[in-house]
Amino acid sequence: MGYDFSADNYVTTQLRKVINWSRRSSVWPLPFATACCGIELMATASSRYDLARFGAEVMRFSPRQSDLLIVAGRVSIKMMPVLQRIYQQMTEPKWVISMGACASTGGVFDTYAVVQGVDQFLPVDVYVPGCPPRPETLMEGIMTIQKIIDEDGLPPSGRKPLNVAVQPSHEVTAQPVPLNISVN
Ligand code: SF4
Repeated sequence: MGYDFSADNYVTTQLRKVINWSRRSSVWPLPFATACCGIELMATASSRYDLARFGAEVMRFSPRQSDLLIVAGRVSIKMMPVLQRIYQQMTEPKWVISMGACASTGGVFDTYAVVQGVDQFLPVDVYVPGCPPRPETLMEGIMTIQKIIDEDGLPPSGRKPLNVAVQPSHEVTAQPVPLNISVN
């Protein structure tokens, strides 16, 4: 009993698996951090949360060396053309995470100057909820991107947003130290 290596589809399928495994294990994020969500993004790469376990700790600030755009924070109308230019300059295949309430919906900044959801201008693949999302939630978003890559998540022609939303999976714990603030 042996494998039928002569079958074209067997080799093609295995090759795709290897390519997808390589891609999912070496996602290079471009952190577009404009506000407080950026701090959580930085924490995700720290030793405590260790994003390196997923092969995604290599933050690149050149779009040509990135394949995952993480929009972390509010984006102003004035800034959006810059963000679109950055997205266009990224290499294919590429993915987008919208991190936090501000990037996904404008958050509490319901004003004419703030984009009310970056998905109006960019093809967002995964929405990470929270204000701010905890590092664990962002990591879940990155793992979702990895699953999308495993499943050949890009159509061969044309780019369609996949619109996956990560559900919060952590319990918020009580404040460890009671707050005793007195105003005299
Ligand atoms: S979602 Fe919350 S934490 Fe993130 S940028 Fe907006 S206000 Fe800051």
